[in-house]
Amino acid sequence: MPVCDIKEHSILERFEDINSIRKALKPFWDSKKIIGLVPTMGALHEGHISLLKQAKQECDVVVVTIFVNPTQFNNSGDLDNYPRTIDEDLALLRGENCDIVFIPSVEEVYPKDYENIKVDLSPMDEVMEGVHRPGHFEGVANVVSRFFKIIEPQKAYFGRKDFQQVTVVEETARQLNLPVEIVPVETLRASNGLALSSRNKRLSGDELEKASIIYRTLNYGKELAHQTSPKDALEKMKAYFENNSLELEYLDIVDPNSLESLNQYWVPGTTACIAAFCGEVRLIDNMELVPND
Ligand code: AMP
Repeated sequence: MPVCDIKEHSILERFEDINSIRKALKPFWDSKKIIGLVPTMGALHEGHISLLKQAKQECDVVVVTIFVNPTQFNNSGDLDNYPRTIDEDLALLRGENCDIVFIPSVEEVYPKDYENIKVDLSPMDEVMEGVHRPGHFEGVANVVSRFFKIIEPQKAYFGRKDFQQVTVVEETARQLNLPVEIVPVETLRASNGLALSSRNKRLSGDELEKASIIYRTLNYGKELAHQTSPKDALEKMKAYFENNSLELEYLDIVDPNSLESLNQYWVPGTTACIAAFCGEVRLIDNMELVPND
């Protein structure tokens, strides 16, 4: 098939096994076309689509993967309850002229002889999500590097909504010497500020409104930046968050590179990260409190 066909006709090509997708990608590798990868776990929403749109602007061909990766779930209930909406996902991807979708099975991604990659993610996997989801980032690093090796993209797009994940993926690519550029994409939010998330599908109308306290708390942190110390700002943000029905798991103000908590000084790119339960549903979000210039 000529290389330009997929791009021009924008027919969504669907693959489930590694051999077929690699065969389809070979002409693109051979002609040095830019391949963009957008890894997802499905239940797609406009947040995912914003990654796809940016990838389409910057790449010759875009591959979206849909794979609910079991190794990044430390809670089997969470894995079982993760929304799966494949027909709607495919319709959405077609509507956005996505070129290729890869929907492998667990056995395809992790065959019997699969060996975990060797990366040292400490200390960045020992804070925030790392504390509350043991093994999560090891799972993320494995699945992402597996897709990098299968697809061989030049660019891979990740949402800043999963701020710690972006840092971990960058470090994984660096340690494994994978020639891929990690492109972080801004968080897309609902009109009340709630970050779009596949998990929002499990929230009632009332909960969707209540969950906006996460965004309001992060915005409050932005107002406090430079007016007081990060430590004091954090206490004030926690007090502000307390007057609501969500249960706070963690809230931290961190250095954007090391992810270490900041106490006394603000640095460029200082970011507040939060995780909270709205009923049964665990939500995460973050916001840059100080511009990173
Ligand atoms: P997930 O399917 O939740 O694993 O997400 C797949 C990708 O979409 C990840 O890189 C997420 O960070 C990104 N993403 C999820 N929600 C949003 C959002 N609201 N805005 C931008 N990117 C997002």
